[in-house]
Amino acid sequence: MKKLFTPGPTNIPNFILDELSKNIIHHRTEDYSILLKNVIEKLKEVYKTDQDVIIMTTSGTGAMEASVINLFKSREKVLVINTGFFGERYTQITNIYNLEVIELKYQWGRSYNLNEIKETIRNNPDLKGIFVTHNETSTGVCNNIKDIGELTKGTNILLVVDSISGIVNNELLFDDWNIDCAVSASQKGFLLPPGLSFACLSSKAINKMNELENRGYYLNFKKYLQNQEIGQNPYTPAVSLVMALKVALEYLLEKEISYITSKKREERISLERKLQELGFNLFIEDEKNRGNSLVVVSHENIDIEQLIKLLDRDFDITIANGQGKYKNKLIRIGLLGDYKDEDYNELLNAIQIKMGEIK
Ligand SMILES: *Cc1c(COP(=O)(O)O)cnc(C)c1O
Repeated sequence: MKKLFTPGPTNIPNFILDELSKNIIHHRTEDYSILLKNVIEKLKEVYKTDQDVIIMTTSGTGAMEASVINLFKSREKVLVINTGFFGERYTQITNIYNLEVIELKYQWGRSYNLNEIKETIRNNPDLKGIFVTHNETSTGVCNNIKDIGELTKGTNILLVVDSISGIVNNELLFDDWNIDCAVSASQKGFLLPPGLSFACLSSKAINKMNELENRGYYLNFKKYLQNQEIGQNPYTPAVSLVMALKVALEYLLEKEISYITSKKREERISLERKLQELGFNLFIEDEKNRGNSLVVVSHENIDIEQLIKLLDRDFDITIANGQGKYKNKLIRIGLLGDYKDEDYNELLNAIQIKMGEIK
């Protein structure tokens, strides 16, 4: 078995694998409706919201695209805060749907500048939305969402957050932070395989959505919300994943999300320190911008590509390389899995051995 230290997907704990190996129930039954209503209630606890959370059978990007299709119409003006590879994705999706896109683009490894957002809002009274990545998985930066929510609160600007790798490992308070749409996916903090995406909408977002003509067929939020009221999905859901989601959420909620978040923070700080001791440099300079979903490092004297290859070949340990122009320059180690201290020690030990061989 490969041990995944990648920033999603990660290894699935055995008790969840057991659930995934069970035979399925039919989705147009009372049993399924009970199951679906149960997981929606639990997802609301994770999101810290009173709003229903939509469950779709798509990867995370499906929910990102749905947030654009359902909440905006062409030529509406939106701001995309682009702090890396996944911020760029919202620039691409909003452009494809012909929104009028203003982009604030930041150097990889940095967060956004709040004054520039304030200025953009001030200079664009017709602004209809702000898109921002919570945890930027290409760099490890965790962007402050709360501060942006303070700016969009009480305006008709919708705050749309890609929290695909953010939620669970990093604090996210959907209602308190005035978020209007937050998307996530099963294969990041939820300890599941890929295949389900989640989206939560504020009543402000639902009102806006209801003003627009139905846009989109499969990715139609309105249909999901209407069907979920009676414990149904509009189309055939990934039943096995919904069954496993129940077990995963029971596990996460029993531990408490706030406990997991603070535990992951400790794990992140400890891993950072140990990697520094091995001569790695932390990619994010400013400590307050570092998220708890992954640790991103570089090394001046080590061939990163080679190190990643050898860890996989000789130790069955998979870590991730950089993205875009940092492809062979950065190592990304995910903290999304259900790791114990000995797992981190095994990883660090393997890295140390292979570094010795490369040198
Ligand atoms: C993983 C990830 C995505 C993409 O999700 P897919 O499930 O691959 O479609 C988008 N944004 C962020 C921040 C991610 O970490």
